[in-house]
Amino acid sequence: MKRSVVLYPGLGVGHLTPMVELAKVFLHHGAAVTVALVEPPTNSPDFSAAVARAAASNPSVTFHVLPPAPADPSSSDGGISSAHHIVLMFDYLKAMCAPLRDFLRSLPAVDALVLDMFCGDALDVAAELNLPVYYFYASGAGDLAVFLNLARMDTRTTFAELGDSLVSLPGAPPFKASDLPKEISQGSPGAKPILGALYRLPEANGILVNTFESLETRAVRALRDGLCVPDHPTPPVYCIGPLVSEGGEKEHECLRWLDTQPENSVVFLSFGSMGTFPKKQLEEIAIGLEKSGQRFLWVVRSPGNPEDMLRPLPEPDLDALLPEGFLGRTKDTGLVLKSWAPQVDVLRHRATGAFVTHCGWNSTLEGITAGLPLLCWPLYAEQRMNKVFIVEEMKLGVEMKGYNEELVEAEEVETKVRWVMEYEGGQALRKRVAEVKGRATEAIEEGGSSHAAFVEFLKDLDNMSLL
Ligand code: UDP
Repeated sequence: MKRSVVLYPGLGVGHLTPMVELAKVFLHHGAAVTVALVEPPTNSPDFSAAVARAAASNPSVTFHVLPPAPADPSSSDGGISSAHHIVLMFDYLKAMCAPLRDFLRSLPAVDALVLDMFCGDALDVAAELNLPVYYFYASGAGDLAVFLNLARMDTRTTFAELGDSLVSLPGAPPFKASDLPKEISQGSPGAKPILGALYRLPEANGILVNTFESLETRAVRALRDGLCVPDHPTPPVYCIGPLVSEGGEKEHECLRWLDTQPENSVVFLSFGSMGTFPKKQLEEIAIGLEKSGQRFLWVVRSPGNPEDMLRPLPEPDLDALLPEGFLGRTKDTGLVLKSWAPQVDVLRHRATGAFVTHCGWNSTLEGITAGLPLLCWPLYAEQRMNKVFIVEEMKLGVEMKGYNEELVEAEEVETKVRWVMEYEGGQALRKRVAEVKGRATEAIEEGGSSHAAFVEFLKDLDNMSLL
């Protein structure tokens, strides 16, 4: 009989996009797939647009929007009362367990529930319904190795106190304590729920990871050897990636503009679905780009509040945010987009030559599979760790100096952009990424490591159902 799986991506575009790609892999292997969606607590045009795009381009996948969580009578706002955006997110996901359970109960058959890494509370739903449950870890194996370990450590020492001292953990090169996410440092309201969610990962029947073995050999080995969870068995880890959106946008103005540019000539700057900068930083980027003399395509968002990232932002007023005359002076060599670009299509365009990225994991994989050298400018969440892996383990990028200080200066933007586009070092980096791109393609082809890992996962799942 056809296997039937329910995927539960939680909140956020960065978590939905790869889950939709996972849905396609299940379909390819003959399963029926339903994606159970949580509507963000605050109106999110990006999320709604991503859902609409995913549903339109994947008619064989069922998308089911869960009804809102029942209101908590003790609260005036339906139980969603915590102010900090991370706490808000976890409270909200916890409250969504009831609608998820009702939905799963209403289905004639479910063979497995696949959870996003932040949806640990749904483990209890799976246990109640006696369902095999897996995680889909939407970041890399290196992150997974580090965070499984951190979740079990005494993190009372603040990372700020540790400063730049080196941390050594299985599966990762030594890294600076300051590259750990600010969100899990002591005193951050998000630390407890995030570490609590990560603590529960080993309870699942297995963890699917959006990576491929040869990209992260050290981390994969440490995970398989059980070194990352000292006090609990590590469930099977299946590296099934890279699962990357296919793009498919054709008509966007920036793609028409790229059509008119020479091959490999444009630096693309984009900072994820939530990355924002203060006006001063935007000005420095603009000055650096202009001085570099290189062609660029830059996605600019309105300055936001890093403590309230779920709140949608207004369209940026480019004339007010960027240096006077910048848009006019660079109109022949550059294009600035407001808020959003069809990123995958841009990255794969023949005119794009390098990627300045915030190191979100999807962006990282999208950059690598487009064969582009990465200029790493991590902003939030696990992106600093991703930067460590990209620069030191994979050697597919270089860091923008100042990312961990107040400002990346214009001079650094100019220097790195010129280095990657004009200098031999940049050429060597491009060659190396092209080689890794080839390995990524092989991994997901029939007989490749990621294809084989998914087949093994399905076999293990079938064996579970027989128990
Ligand atoms: N994205 C996009 N256009 C933009 C910004 C982001 O299409 O202007 C997409 C990007 O291609 C990626 C996702 O949004 O698939 C962002 O995920 P990532 O993990 O890189 O970062 P996050 O947004 O979760 O920080």
